[in-house]
Amino acid sequence: MEKVRTRFAPSPTGYLHIGGLRTALYGYLFAKQRGGDFILRIEDTDTTRYVDGSVQIIYDTMRDSGIMYDEGPDIGGNYGPYIQSERKAIYTEYAKKLVECGGAYYCFCTPERIAGLKDSEGNVRYDKHCLKLSKAEIEEKIARGEPYVIRQNVPTEGSGTYHDLVYGDISVDYKDIEDGILIKSDGMPTYNFANVIDDHLMGITHVIRGTEYLSSTPKYNLMYDAFGWERPVYIHLPPIMKDAQHKLSKRNGDAGYEDFVNKGYVKEAIVNYIALLGWSPKTNQEKMSLAELVEHFSLDGINKSPAIFDETKMKWLSGEYIKELSFEEFKKLALPFLKKSAAYGKFDEDKLLNLVKTRVQILSEIPEKLDFIADFKEFDISLFVNEKQKASIELAKEILPKIKERLSNLSEFTNSVLFESLVALSNELGVKKQALLWIARIAITGKGATAGGATEIAELLGKDETLKRIDFSIGLLNK
Ligand code: GLU
Repeated sequence: MEKVRTRFAPSPTGYLHIGGLRTALYGYLFAKQRGGDFILRIEDTDTTRYVDGSVQIIYDTMRDSGIMYDEGPDIGGNYGPYIQSERKAIYTEYAKKLVECGGAYYCFCTPERIAGLKDSEGNVRYDKHCLKLSKAEIEEKIARGEPYVIRQNVPTEGSGTYHDLVYGDISVDYKDIEDGILIKSDGMPTYNFANVIDDHLMGITHVIRGTEYLSSTPKYNLMYDAFGWERPVYIHLPPIMKDAQHKLSKRNGDAGYEDFVNKGYVKEAIVNYIALLGWSPKTNQEKMSLAELVEHFSLDGINKSPAIFDETKMKWLSGEYIKELSFEEFKKLALPFLKKSAAYGKFDEDKLLNLVKTRVQILSEIPEKLDFIADFKEFDISLFVNEKQKASIELAKEILPKIKERLSNLSEFTNSVLFESLVALSNELGVKKQALLWIARIAITGKGATAGGATEIAELLGKDETLKRIDFSIGLLNK
């Protein structure tokens, strides 16, 4: 069997957005699952949309996310060059061939003449005017240096049909397809031409891309047929929406891969979540590594309907990945975020990180989750009141000195020792355990909500600081 070859063909128009990365991921998964090759091709022929630096972003993002290609501009391969702007001569050669076989023609119409073709709704549709030119006329115009484009010669009747592996049989009437430009007056090809030439010459067997190309594919097929080339297999992917009405898109300024990494999403979680945008696994297992995705990905799990990007779900997945990281792995990822916390440098780094490891979904939540520890000051004593836990200001006044005494006698100040001794104390005093722990936590943090319980926080603060804070709180209660 022929080796499967898929490609990701982004245009360097800014950062790599989520939809683009999803296309790349599916192309990667599909190829890897079949022992095939995954190719990166940069489609930079539209110079008006080119954004400096974005090719590098594409390389970096793909490496960073693990969606690595086997051939590409920066690593080479047998089918290069992999950057379209370096393939101009190839397009010219094939455009001429297409003209020779009647699939395309030279067009010398001026912008003014084209503008004059507007219909009552303001739409311009080319009228095949230059198709009538004789060979001699064409040669003469070219020799005179008249600017021209090369247009596709689309039949005026009939329809183009093909089978898409996701959307089924697609048929488009040729009368609805314009004689689009294949080679612009500057000699550069349009996407409509370059994608066909490149996919063929690069041996692409399966074309995986967004549904925006579903209805233009018949015109690409006309070219494959005109050249006598085998058409690739088509797999179009559903759009990704940010809500029922709006597409997720970089043009709307929606976040890209890098933004999510900067926000502290675990990379594996981003890739895992992106895989689920438009594809559902057969089992309930949604958390999957890249290797597991390669194993389980299947075309029949691709949905036809648009996928909705749900950041809450991606956050949840990120939290699941964080929980499974070893402490050392977590520390490596978390440290840059911990450094932004007011608690950083004041307490033991490992203890701070331990406190939040199971309590954050994305790493950027770390500072806000830990700031409270460094910020101990006068607080409203009504915080001691908690009806559910049966805690009150009176109870706090009564038991805080006893808590202080008990803690000051401890020689080991660890979470488990602290917990045991405070539970024992609550039994001795005949006070509900939850009430005592509530009061202790308020006394040492001055906050209603904190990451971690009283004894975890006390361990982190250490004995001196804990006792100092309890003293302060006793003082507040007796003011
Ligand atoms: N350069 C096109 C884009 O970024 C690629 C479409 C395709 O995969 O054929 O939309």
